[in-house]
Amino acid sequence: MANPEPSSHGSDTKDDLLSSHKEKFQKSKDEYYGYDLYPEREGDTDMIKQGRDLQTVKCEKNVIWCAEKDPRIKLLMGALKSRGCPIDLGRHVSCEPCNFNVNGGYDPVKNQVVVCKNMSKTKNACCNVMAHELLHAFDACRAKVDFSDLQHLACTEIRAANLNHCYFLSAWETGIAYPWNFKEKHRECVKNKAILSVILVRNLPAVKAREIVDKVFDKCYQDLEPFGRRMKKGSRDAQRAYCDASLYGYTDS
Ligand SMILES: [Zn+2]
Repeated sequence: MANPEPSSHGSDTKDDLLSSHKEKFQKSKDEYYGYDLYPEREGDTDMIKQGRDLQTVKCEKNVIWCAEKDPRIKLLMGALKSRGCPIDLGRHVSCEPCNFNVNGGYDPVKNQVVVCKNMSKTKNACCNVMAHELLHAFDACRAKVDFSDLQHLACTEIRAANLNHCYFLSAWETGIAYPWNFKEKHRECVKNKAILSVILVRNLPAVKAREIVDKVFDKCYQDLEPFGRRMKKGSRDAQRAYCDASLYGYTDS
């Protein structure tokens, strides 16, 4: 079972987009967990042959860079360590080729973050994927999330979107947020992103995914652990959160 981060970062998710994702991954199986998005996890040898190439090496370098330089990743790794789930990059982060619909994923069975080396090629993209997926790892460690429980899944997707995406400036740039409606637009963006993730992970109809996300939204939207704040793009929020982390017992040393 994997937990994909959709490659579409748009905040204007529409039902037709949602249903096209659903159609694409429609399976006859009763239970769907998105593993076909990560061919190496299913032993697709063609994809494995493309294996350790320059793309892998570059991806692994980016992973190390993010772990050393990105305050969000440093904070999350510290928080995971403080909760008794330390991250060993070689063991817990894997650079793999993926289906073109996803940038990354979290595999709760193997407790591994997947960075899609063919999709998340820049440092920035790699750090964003790691921040999103390590948040899932943090929830799995902290709250013993049951990823097969749709409400648990919806909650961790809401939290990952809330803490790592839908930045104020990106909403501003795309013309959907203004100072007078930012709060409402931010909630809407987080909700849409979470719905899309739930659809990808479990191949649910959009209506059902929306219903589950709505049910847990308010509670999970308010839960800002371990950052304690929502980040604004281009601000020093992430650095501030990292500096404050030791106050909450999260350290990376
Ligand atoms: Zn996710």
